Amino acid sequence: MTLTPPLTDPLSTDALLQIDREHIWHPYTAIPSPHPNYPVVSARGVRLHLADGRTLIDGMSSWWCALHGYNHPELNAALQRQMEEMSHVMFGGITHPPAAELVQLLVELTPAELTRVFLSDSGSVAVEVAIKMALQYWHAQGRAQKTRLLTVRSGYHGDTFGAMSVCDPVTGMHHLFSSVLPQQVFAEAPGCGFNQAWDEKYIADAAQLLADHHEQLAAFILEPIVQGAGGMRFYSPTYLKRVRELCDHYDVLLIADEIATGFGRTGKLFACEHAGISPDIMCLGKALTGGYMTLAATLCTDKVSSGICRSQAGAFMHGPTFMGNPLACAVAVASIRLLLRSPWRRRVGAIEGHLRTVLEPCRALPGVADVRVLGAIGVVELIAPVEMASFQRQLVDRGVWVRPFGKLVYVMPPFIIEPADLEHLSAALVEVIEGN
Ligand SMILES: *Cc1c(COP(=O)(O)O)cnc(C)c1O
Repeated sequence: MTLTPPLTDPLSTDALLQIDREHIWHPYTAIPSPHPNYPVVSARGVRLHLADGRTLIDGMSSWWCALHGYNHPELNAALQRQMEEMSHVMFGGITHPPAAELVQLLVELTPAELTRVFLSDSGSVAVEVAIKMALQYWHAQGRAQKTRLLTVRSGYHGDTFGAMSVCDPVTGMHHLFSSVLPQQVFAEAPGCGFNQAWDEKYIADAAQLLADHHEQLAAFILEPIVQGAGGMRFYSPTYLKRVRELCDHYDVLLIADEIATGFGRTGKLFACEHAGISPDIMCLGKALTGGYMTLAATLCTDKVSSGICRSQAGAFMHGPTFMGNPLACAVAVASIRLLLRSPWRRRVGAIEGHLRTVLEPCRALPGVADVRVLGAIGVVELIAPVEMASFQRQLVDRGVWVRPFGKLVYVMPPFIIEPADLEHLSAALVEVIEGN
């Protein structure tokens, strides 16, 4: 194919789709993609606008990110203002107001012990940074044998190598790379549901693994309360409390990966608040910029930072080119301020109440294994994996955007969704599930 559309003309939809089919790799797919990709030309509020003029109500928040919907005037203005000052400047030897404002907000909002912030490009990198912090910390303490990580099954922490090594070994792509991944220690996925009565048996496996391996363990890494892409599972805050206690007892750092849960999604600003715990290291990403662009942060305690920096290495060995990108920091500051000013608790609570009412009856359907709702997250777990292309077409035909994976059909709409749109979204979803 010749790729020479006239430079001044907008790309026709046919040309766009042809380039896409022949040259573009999408997440976790082959080229050419076995499923259609829908051309979106703009987005506003909770609606994605397709090239053919149809609009879809967004049920995904672009993978946990777009809390305030799309094309928000306040976030647009923050970006424009910053662009006129500077879009980017290196972070080595230089600092700037957007980074300082953002870091101050993060330190204020997260648990009090987290006072040091390392900015990076994406969630996976924030996880790599967290792992490196833990390893450097123990190395500096003269305990260089503490290099392994403990985690729970059904987790997801990103697609880079360190992050991949702690993703669920079955649902992750682990087996493809097992010969090159560090071999980590896996506990059973937390077995106690969010509202289920606690029993000490639920922590027995993790406790045993800590007892057996703590001499080699640098950190326990997990997603607090909500396991996202690894299974969309919600677990008891008591599990997280016990993990904190055990980590203290065995001298193992606790890394909370709040990349999906941060900024209100579970009904608390950060999911650690459900358990009232403070991790040693926390990763943030996804909704950090309100879904505008990629940015992540790894926060740690003074104990961790000074442990690393008072060592022979004397410094933390990481420094991405686009570290602290001013545009990303400026829009993150605007997004967080907008969130804090908004009635987000009430909105998330209203979404939760609605999703419970509408999705819970799906439990009675023959193809449904489980229904789970927490905060602005609704999950219908099916017995068999969905046939993606036809399932998605049926949703698009009903004017909604939801992207299931495997047996998991789930929604996590922007917090600003109006009741009528939420009604439409959930009704369409239930209809398509019923028909499958
Ligand atoms: C998405 C996600 C990541 C990876 O973030 P990317 O920005 O995609 O690299 C890590 N951890 C959790 C919990 C996530 O949901």
